[in-house]
Amino acid sequence: MSSLGKIFQLDEQLSNKIAAGEVVERPASVVKELVENSIDAGSTSIRIDVEEGGLSLIRVLDNGNGIEAEDVETAFYRHATSKIRHDRDLFRIVTLGFRGEALPSIASVSKLALKTSDGKAKGHEIRLEGGKIVHKGSAAARKGTEIAVSELFYNTPARLKYLRTIHTELGHISDVVNRMAIAHPEIAFHLTHNGKMLLQTTGNGDLLRVIAAIYGTQTAKKMLPISAESLDFQVGGYIAKPEVTRSNRSYMSTIINGRYIRNYPLMKAIQEGYHTLLPIGKYPVAVLQIKMDPILIDVNVHPSKLEVRISKEQALQQLVTEGIKKLFQQTRLIPEVSLPR
Ligand code: ADP
Ligand code: MG
Repeated sequence: MSSLGKIFQLDEQLSNKIAAGEVVERPASVVKELVENSIDAGSTSIRIDVEEGGLSLIRVLDNGNGIEAEDVETAFYRHATSKIRHDRDLFRIVTLGFRGEALPSIASVSKLALKTSDGKAKGHEIRLEGGKIVHKGSAAARKGTEIAVSELFYNTPARLKYLRTIHTELGHISDVVNRMAIAHPEIAFHLTHNGKMLLQTTGNGDLLRVIAAIYGTQTAKKMLPISAESLDFQVGGYIAKPEVTRSNRSYMSTIINGRYIRNYPLMKAIQEGYHTLLPIGKYPVAVLQIKMDPILIDVNVHPSKLEVRISKEQALQQLVTEGIKKLFQQTRLIPEVSLPR
């Protein structure tokens, strides 16, 4: 590379730190990325322990496939991923991650320790500080991966200053884990803050039990199972009877192919299904699990992957609205769902 000019390609450490500005907005984004990785690794049990709103420690422990010895360091390279390989894969994303940005970004703004084992060979560990490897070697580990992120943003003082109270940051972390648990009733989640248990799900696949764990038994008892299907889409989940309302939209959860997403047109479609049954300014509680061919959804829209583009979006909206309307028409025939014990 010529050094005569004024333009230089930034070294990897600096470019990771820049990328971290997008990917790692706050402690909750670290939790989201790490838990997504655990889910992608086929885990059936994920434990999340945070301290001081995630600022002093975020630890995620899973029982997934682990990382092979050869890959432990590569996982921290920018755009290094095991999840896609070719152009065409980008249009058929079946995993939650694919950008290969989370680990290098998180590592560049924290002190990170990773221990992993694929269950066959002995385990491995690696430690980084501000993106620099400070230790690498073998270590005893159970099958799965444990990542501990301490002192988040210790080397980016401006970001640290921008963070809110521990209480607020913890609220965001809780939201993230609740969404993951709702999207994956087949995975057992365990969340603690400063040693105090905040959420525990069994992982037995029963969505209504997860809803009960998060929104309370009283709300769960007033949910009705919904199902609707078209050639392209399959909609399942639960929606609350119109008597259960909330004063904001955040109690409408839409999950597409295992990914919690935020999509206003879909929320609108849910509300339209309730039609005049909801008082003005009130919103329903709903959890919709939507399945579709991955070719119909573009998740490569934003680094956080919370927003997606859906082809045939209007057809999906219509299916949701009609499905809810139909359910209410039949409701008198449907007995109250009994909560499994
Ligand atoms: P992405 O998830 O987009 O592939 P990441 O930076 O989040 O990128 O992770 C890089 C790679 O590290 C992943 O592709 C995966 O192979 C591996 N990895 C990360 N976390 C885990 C985990 N908990 N279990 C197994 N492999 C993991
Ligand atoms: Mg990832």
